Amino acid sequence: MTNADDLYARYPEVLYPGDLRDVPSGWLGIVDQYFQVVSPLMTDTGYEVVTAAECAGGLDWMWTSPLSSMTEERHRAMDREDVLLELRSYHMCSACGQPGKGWKSGKTIVTRCEAHGVGERVVDSKPLQRRTPHGVVRYDETTDQLVEVDQEI
Ligand SMILES: [Zn+2]
Repeated sequence: MTNADDLYARYPEVLYPGDLRDVPSGWLGIVDQYFQVVSPLMTDTGYEVVTAAECAGGLDWMWTSPLSSMTEERHRAMDREDVLLELRSYHMCSACGQPGKGWKSGKTIVTRCEAHGVGERVVDSKPLQRRTPHGVVRYDETTDQLVEVDQEI
């Protein structure tokens, strides 16, 4: 499994040692996927991770960059990659990186596979969606991509 030191070495332009200290090891694979797209796009923009931590079953991820370096193309791509990273985390075991679902133990909600689940399975009544500047999207597990959702439902 990918570890944080691998990612610091692979993406020195956009990651500083310590940025991923609060990211569960099972999610480092999706962080790697994210930076495969984001690193070449954001090199030399001053991209810096601000928040990267597990929160209520998902990966809370925030970054900053001086606005002057943000082109329209970068904004579009980053809007998409940020949502994709977050929604992927809700489908990925934070312990091992295998496909996962929501589990609730007391007040704690985590995303885990069958082997690492704790407490009770959370049954979602409808799939997670996110509003982006370019429409409403959901995550499709089969294709590992975002899918636009018809807003006239
Ligand atoms: Zn697991």
